[in-house]
Amino acid sequence: MLDLPIWNFDGSSTGQASSENSDVYLHPVALYRDPFTLGNNKIVLCETYKHDGTPSETNNRRTCNEVMKKATDFHPWFGMEQEYTLLDTDNHPYGWPKNGYPGPQGPYYCGVGASRVFGRDIVEAHYRACLYCGINISGTNAEVMPGQWEFQVGPCEGIVMGDDLWVARYLLHRVAEDFNINVTLDPKPMPGDWNGAGMHTNFSTQEMRDANGIVAIERAIDRLSKNHQKHIEAYDPNKGKDNERRLTGLHETSSIFDFSAGVANRGASIRIPRPVSDEKQGYLEDRRPSSNADPYQVSEILVRTVCLEE
Ligand code: ADP
Ligand code: MN
Ligand code: MN
Ligand code: MN
Ligand code: MN
Repeated sequence: MLDLPIWNFDGSSTGQASSENSDVYLHPVALYRDPFTLGNNKIVLCETYKHDGTPSETNNRRTCNEVMKKATDFHPWFGMEQEYTLLDTDNHPYGWPKNGYPGPQGPYYCGVGASRVFGRDIVEAHYRACLYCGINISGTNAEVMPGQWEFQVGPCEGIVMGDDLWVARYLLHRVAEDFNINVTLDPKPMPGDWNGAGMHTNFSTQEMRDANGIVAIERAIDRLSKNHQKHIEAYDPNKGKDNERRLTGLHETSSIFDFSAGVANRGASIRIPRPVSDEKQGYLEDRRPSSNADPYQVSEILVRTVCLEE
């Protein structure tokens, strides 16, 4: 990493700087194998900095990394379930009839067959690209709404969670482009009786993973319950406005206005998976983050609340 130079680009073309003072600096932070050009070629993940050396507005990695360094002894692990929706180039969900709607939800989740599942070739190509890259991708599934999918990255410790997920998102858009298909991370692409898209975040510390870790899990849930609004504001890029359309209390979500927790409860803010409750150790699942949330913001606030007790 030290061998890679700091570089710069035209930030006025990306809404990150004015045209009179347009240079935005790229600081290399993580290296991946390039699944498109192969061989010795690399993809370099960078942080962005303004001309005066301060992080640009969208650089949430800087503070996340500081928090992860403070919390190294907790060994925080994350597993994020990234849901997304494939769209045709007319921005209509991929595989949906052009004049009307598919049959109601039910047969699509983890489905198989040409009338139930749309875009598996894209999903599989993306999965392979992530594996080649060195991203800790751990699975995929077709979602409840037709044309909607999920991939899971994790468990990843500390800052690696945000790094791997950002590169995995880039690869998804890039791979889908080759199929002439768009990807949206909008948390509620189709209003009405269609599931929205989230980024469930599974989280644990060493203490939670050890014997009788359920005590630490319950302590974490208590801390989370006292910081609900603060977390909601970090769980989408618009301080909760995007998630408002998704966290309605219907379609396997909790209400954005209330905090709740429960074993195996998919209508709660926090779910304790059944096996974790049985074995009294493991992790918790925060079901609130929106599909378009910044994984750096989500992992940072979880560590701040649960580990650093801020
Ligand atoms: P769901 O049943 O909610 O659909 P998934 O199987 O999609 O769950 O995702 C579970 C995620 O939890 C995976 O990304 C996995 O890596 C992650 N995970 C498993 N164990 C832990 C742990 N101890 N700490 C943090 N994340 C974990
Ligand atoms: Mn140039
Ligand atoms: Mn899942
Ligand atoms: Mn899901
Ligand atoms: Mn989940």
